[in-house]
Amino acid sequence: MRYGMPGRELWDASGFGGKLVICTMLTDDTRTKRGFTMYDYLVVGCGIVGLTIAIEIKKTLGGSVCIIDKESAPGAHASGRNSGVLHAGIYYKPGTLKAKLSVEGNRMMREYCDLKGIAQVKGKVIVTKSTAEIETLRELERRAVANGAQVTMVDENELKEIEPYASTVGFALYSPNTVTVDPMEVLEKLLEDARALGIEVRFGVKMTGVDDRNTADAEGLKLRFGTLINAAGAYSDKIAHMYNVGRQYVIIPYKGLYYRLKDEHAHMVRSNIYPVPDIRFPFLGVHFTRTPKGIVKIGPTAIPALSKENYGFFDHIKKDELASALKYNARKLVSDKNYLLLGIKEMSKYVPHLFFKEAKGLLPALEYSQIESYPNTGIRAQLFDTSKQELATDFVVETHENSIHVLNAVSPAFTSSPAFAEYVVGLIK
Ligand SMILES: Cc1cc2nc3c(=O)[nH]c(=O)nc-3n(C[C@H](O)[C@H](O)[C@H](O)COP(=O)(O)OP(=O)(O)OC[C@H]3O[C@@H](n4cnc5c(N)ncnc54)[C@H](O)[C@@H]3O)c2cc1C
Repeated sequence: MRYGMPGRELWDASGFGGKLVICTMLTDDTRTKRGFTMYDYLVVGCGIVGLTIAIEIKKTLGGSVCIIDKESAPGAHASGRNSGVLHAGIYYKPGTLKAKLSVEGNRMMREYCDLKGIAQVKGKVIVTKSTAEIETLRELERRAVANGAQVTMVDENELKEIEPYASTVGFALYSPNTVTVDPMEVLEKLLEDARALGIEVRFGVKMTGVDDRNTADAEGLKLRFGTLINAAGAYSDKIAHMYNVGRQYVIIPYKGLYYRLKDEHAHMVRSNIYPVPDIRFPFLGVHFTRTPKGIVKIGPTAIPALSKENYGFFDHIKKDELASALKYNARKLVSDKNYLLLGIKEMSKYVPHLFFKEAKGLLPALEYSQIESYPNTGIRAQLFDTSKQELATDFVVETHENSIHVLNAVSPAFTSSPAFAEYVVGLIK
């Protein structure tokens, strides 16, 4: 199918398998002339993933690019409600997209932050709570080396030099390239860049349906496009399903609650202190993160949430999302004993004293009176594969005709985003 004005070929929308040709860029005039808005590329979602993809498209492919977001500003969801850690690429199985794109994304993001003068706190240690965890720590070291992430195994005395208040049993893994940033600052700079490149960013526009393969409906507003990129975070499954893509996938929300060290105790953590995680699951466990502003965050949890934007106890609950979260969590709990144990452990962190106990395992001198809650709850948009009854562990991207769907942009997608954007544009090409 070919769209365009007589004598001016705009795009061939025959899909990725066929020719995708952007011969003539749309001008502002042609974009709005026919009573509907037309773009070469329409990106749904102005989180870190949508922003970086839009910028990469504009720089590499050119053409008219528009980002829409249902909220009034960027970072209303995961991209503005995370730990702000640029992960170095330690945890991920070699050969996975996460492994490849996090190492590259970490380097690119650090360079970007240097270029833009964005403050960074450098370094991280992963500590053990018992000798039983040392084997997993060694496995993390093996993965890091295979992935090309720089790490050093340090002993208990060396750990004290790096993090005087942290404790470990035998060894700890030190990562110099793990860095924390303010995620909102990164988003703001990227938004400035996007606008400077001529990308149109439209907030308060929610995609609600598909009219045809080249027209998105946004509550009555018709947006025409050559290629659509679905970067809608927790709702990317819904948008993919509008195209009959990724039907076996649903997104289950997991709530990340944080506490913080009271300011007068923030000196107890110099950079980042992490536990050894259960590497069968895509969660890293409660950890300490020092932000560039000197706040030491503790968390996040991975508690099943009741809906995709259920940041408080009972707010933003939607019936269909609640039913889906209950159904798939229940199926997984029944079929997987390890998931059941993880679920019980995570739910217990709703109890402040039990959350504190988890944190104290990393920092033995910590007292309950030294922490307070921190209102930066985030929700992980975790993909669940209903055909396998499993949580997807790697990033998932599905392409279909002239649309591309980013379906599991969970951690470390913030870190990976610039490299991930190159990967997605490679698929479009
Ligand atoms: C608690 C927590 C801690 C984390 N810590 C880290 C970390 O330290 N390091 C790291 O690398 N990663 C971390 N992550 C993961 C990281 O935050 C996410 O992977 C990343 O932000 C995902 O970005 P996104 O753009 O896909 O999603 P989002 O930021 O959620 O953006 C999606 C956007 O799509 C919009 N949208 C949704 N539906 C529609 C629609 N129908 N129409 C229009 N717009 C729509 C939403 O409003 C939203 O702005 C963490 C995540 C959480 C929750």
